[in-house]
Amino acid sequence: MTATPPNPYRPRLLVVDDQPINIQVLYRTFGADHQVFMATSGAQALQVAQQQLPDLILLDLELGDMNGFEVCQRLQQDELTAGIPVIFVTGHSSEATETRGLQAGAVDFISKPVNPAIVRARVGTHITLKQQADQLRQYAFVDGLTGLHNRRSLDERLEAELRHAMRSEQGLSVLLIDVDYFKKYNDQYGHLAGDEVLRQVGAALKSCMLRPVDLAARYGGEEFACLLPETPLEGAVLVAERLRQQIALLAIPHAASEIASILTVSIGAAAKPGRPGVQAKELLALADEALYEAKRTGRDRVAAR
Ligand code: GH3
Ligand code: MG
Ligand code: MG
Ligand code: MG
Repeated sequence: MTATPPNPYRPRLLVVDDQPINIQVLYRTFGADHQVFMATSGAQALQVAQQQLPDLILLDLELGDMNGFEVCQRLQQDELTAGIPVIFVTGHSSEATETRGLQAGAVDFISKPVNPAIVRARVGTHITLKQQADQLRQYAFVDGLTGLHNRRSLDERLEAELRHAMRSEQGLSVLLIDVDYFKKYNDQYGHLAGDEVLRQVGAALKSCMLRPVDLAARYGGEEFACLLPETPLEGAVLVAERLRQQIALLAIPHAASEIASILTVSIGAAAKPGRPGVQAKELLALADEALYEAKRTGRDRVAAR
């Protein structure tokens, strides 16, 4: 017998039923090619769903502690679990229960006793849809040219980090990075070469983010931004200086630059303490002022606010 290589990604399925025998039937149907989690009560289902974030939930309608509708509604209310499709599995379905289930947010209904072929087909369809939706969500936060986070992603994280900074009283910093004389670069070497440079600059920025919480983004055009949580201004200036040097080390020829023979960047750094009322736009405006100062005082440098 030849061993089949394990599937690199087995879809994650949560099966909820208060009768272990029913769980066994579904486990036999899915155990070989899915990662199956089980729960025998509504409370346990909610807990496992939050911990494991399954791709799909097969949910019994009648559970000991609460009914399936309630479980489904609670899943919908939690941002973490709201995107997980729920299929109700029920012994006595009627138009009324189906309507109520769909209103509670379920994507489908299956009646007991389950027909393995039917349940497999429906589960397969909904897992595919869920994975496509996840992928689209992912794309919405990634910059297509550089693969870095995009502006929207940075803006969302900045808001979240400001809330966090408020609780922990830690400050946070932002860097704005702008390529010097990039219009002249495009004029000299062409727009495609310009795009390639943006990719290289993006990769260099990413390589300079040393902590997992630091985030590098393409903020627009030839402008990049870094978010450095729990970092005071002095720390941010050190990172900025390292970034500036890293990009100089790429030694990208830029014959049309007015200040050097290679491509350089200017960086504005700004920090805010973790206090109530600190606005994302204030922090970004401060970094933008610092960037303007770096440009005005000669480019290829870091200025801080
Ligand atoms: P400065 O040193 O003052 O920043 O000069 P600059 O020419 O870099 O500044 P400016 O903001 O006036 O010009 C930015 C230019 O960047 C405009 C455009 O030609 C170029 N650019 C913006 N986005 C892209 C892009 O996605 N690809 C390429 N190749 N070029 C871009
Ligand atoms: Mg039951
Ligand atoms: Mg610019
Ligand atoms: Mg520029």
